[in-house]
Amino acid sequence: MTIILEADHLTKIYGSERAVNEVTFALGEGTSTALIGPNGAGKTTTLSMLGGLLEPTTGTISLNGEKRADVRKHIGFLPQYPQFFSWLTALEFTEMAAKLSGMDARSAKLEAQKTLEFVGLGDALRKKTGTFSGGMKQRLGLAQAIVHKPKLLLLDEPVSALDPVGRREIMNLLKSLQQDMTILYSTHILNDAEEMTDQLLFLRKGQLVEQGSIGDVRAKYDQPRYRVEFG
Ligand code: ATP
Repeated sequence: MTIILEADHLTKIYGSERAVNEVTFALGEGTSTALIGPNGAGKTTTLSMLGGLLEPTTGTISLNGEKRADVRKHIGFLPQYPQFFSWLTALEFTEMAAKLSGMDARSAKLEAQKTLEFVGLGDALRKKTGTFSGGMKQRLGLAQAIVHKPKLLLLDEPVSALDPVGRREIMNLLKSLQQDMTILYSTHILNDAEEMTDQLLFLRKGQLVEQGSIGDVRAKYDQPRYRVEFG
């Protein structure tokens, strides 16, 4: 299998705290993987380093075998709390994201429109993002993450703030993206992970304590004393 992303001894230290400690893993092209762990495990910090938003203290990241790959072009990132410019319309915002990834103005407009339709915001193209509900914002966040058709999609707790209907809609969208993109997404809920994939990386206190199939990890950890940590 072709490896699309490799994290090698990735570490982030804040003051005296090792938020992420010597984390090493690889993602095969076309796979979906859940990064699971309780609050404070280091999921956001790990994804932020992979997405180029945060510099690792030590360790390296390779994308398609390159340490200096153009992250904006090849990676899509949905932060846990996406921020939008409230005065822009959904179309303007998504177009801006497309241009930032290197797309020319004409393609950016076309792709922004297509992507917003894909995520179910076709009727809201010209609405200002400041008027959007939580569910609409999450769809818009997803649109800006995929508008440039990245090879790798990083999603930080994409459904944890949503009600059951919104959650279902976003999960369905993510499932339909699985054919085209490699996906790494964080969650603290094992059932969510299980719905999307069989593969997981289990972080605890900044350490990667398990990686492999959900079945194996469940068998090992799904004991009463661990349940609380899975959330
Ligand atoms: P959650 O599920 O609550 O979002 P998480 O698994 O995403 O948690 P992180 O947000 O990566 O965990 O945090 C890991 C650790 O690093 C935590 O102890 C957190 O307090 C600490 N941390 C994160 N960002 C900073 C920062 N900017 N400065 C100092 N400490 C930080």
